[in-house]
Amino acid sequence: MVHEHCSQARRRLSAQSRTRYDLQVFAVEVEVVITFCQACWAEIPNQSIICPNCGADQSQISAEPFVKKLIRALHHPEPETPIRAAYVLGQLKAVEAVPALLVVVAEQSDQFIVAACIDALAEIGDPSLASPLEQLLRSASGLIVEDALEKALVKLRTQKPTIEESS
Ligand SMILES: [Zn+2]
Repeated sequence: MVHEHCSQARRRLSAQSRTRYDLQVFAVEVEVVITFCQACWAEIPNQSIICPNCGADQSQISAEPFVKKLIRALHHPEPETPIRAAYVLGQLKAVEAVPALLVVVAEQSDQFIVAACIDALAEIGDPSLASPLEQLLRSASGLIVEDALEKALVKLRTQKPTIEESS
């Protein structure tokens, strides 16, 4: 019973995985993923079927792909939700979320949300992100965003490419 929604999450994630590398990541990261409500992205105890934060029944959440839900959550009006969504996207190394994360970084005025999206981009780790992030650093205002950008750039420069590693 406890693992019912865990296995749902795992199945959805596996369906989206294409490479052996992805599967390895998900095998590791699923423990992180299942601790977040799939409606409001609040951290919830592993056993929770009903989210203590928003009341959503985790077993009744729509079959929309997990990453798509997270991408949609980046535009949620409650600031904590996009921050959590960005964090989970980073943990999942969700390459398909990169364009959406860059849009949020460009358009969002909340520095904490922008910083969370930059952290996620660094975690996803596509080396092609280094140059857009460098550009952002030149025009960035605000210590929180600047700090996130500097850390992300260090990470991106020292990281091995994560995509198509196993193909
Ligand atoms: Zn919730």
